[in-house]
Amino acid sequence: MKRCRGCGVPLQSDDPKRPGYIPPEKLDDPRGLCQRCFKIKYYGEFRSVPVEDFPFDEIAKNVDLICLIVDGVDIEGSWVLDRFREAKNIWVVVNKTDLLPFSKEEIVKWLREEKGWSGKVFLTSSKKGWGLKGFWEELNFVYRGKKVAFMGVTNVGKSSLVGRLLGDESITVSPWPGTTIDVVERKNEEGTIFIDTPGLVPSGRLYDLLCPDCQKKVIPSKKLSGKIFFLKSGKSLSLGGLSALTVLTGGLLLKPFVSYEVPLHRTNQKRLKEVIKEGAGEWLKPPCKGCFDRIEEIGWSEEVLEVSEGLDLAISGLGWVSLFKGEGKISLLLPSKVSFNLRRSIRG
Ligand code: GDP
Repeated sequence: MKRCRGCGVPLQSDDPKRPGYIPPEKLDDPRGLCQRCFKIKYYGEFRSVPVEDFPFDEIAKNVDLICLIVDGVDIEGSWVLDRFREAKNIWVVVNKTDLLPFSKEEIVKWLREEKGWSGKVFLTSSKKGWGLKGFWEELNFVYRGKKVAFMGVTNVGKSSLVGRLLGDESITVSPWPGTTIDVVERKNEEGTIFIDTPGLVPSGRLYDLLCPDCQKKVIPSKKLSGKIFFLKSGKSLSLGGLSALTVLTGGLLLKPFVSYEVPLHRTNQKRLKEVIKEGAGEWLKPPCKGCFDRIEEIGWSEEVLEVSEGLDLAISGLGWVSLFKGEGKISLLLPSKVSFNLRRSIRG
């Protein structure tokens, strides 16, 4: 059975609505892509195919190593180690390091101390090619001839990484979650088998609530550098129309690290909800009107937190806000079910 070289799904010419459809006259095309992957690759079009009942645990048990790919911008949201309790060996690969304002040492130290991770860590950027050579050499040396699976939540860069490592551009990579819909297996010259799996869909990630256009805006494309804001009590800062932070007592110097396409807007606590309602889909975008309506339907949650300098408030699927100076009580406004964490700043 022929499989799509992009997403791994078996190719079929019977039903254009089902995964793996390839027009009959294209069956012998050497590019070997299903119509969906062809459109993603050559026209930038995307149609989402849900992944149902994918046997992640089964794969985890049957491979010699899992490389858990973690999104450096959303470590908490992509830290799904507990899904692989039966794995024989796990290496953690923190990808998208080109977007991070931290040094390698800072990230590794933070993973050891805050996540309690004592195993192997590699830092990579599949976009820039950073860290790939060392990772690849060690992987091939230690796991030559074995089975290695690349796993992680959607959109952490698994397909880009596997594609670059194997020098095989035909693996489909796209800026939308849920692109790899079945197992993509590649064997290298040494007989090592590499398996790219569909992304696990995590719960609580903000961008999973958004349409593809808003997702593109929320996923950072340039190194995050942050702009400093001072907020005293009664002042709010909204991150697009997607979430907001209000200082209730005290004062804080803070620095949001989110995509450049998420506008930051200061306002008064009293006007915050009105401003979000007026601005969403207009000058406070993302979200677009459609996504805003969906969030309104889901509802908003408000959490009151005691914070102090040296902490980061990480919002899953959006970014984080570093608290630089000061302390106080804040209120965090988020779409319901979106996860957040108060973590010790990676910068230390
Ligand atoms: P997958 O769903 O985990 O297989 O992720 P993809 O490989 O399809 O990548 C998802 C998105 O992240 C795409 O927009 C990629 O261009 C982007 N991406 C992947 N790796 C990197 C990276 O190292 N740095 C940056 N900045 N973006 C990346």
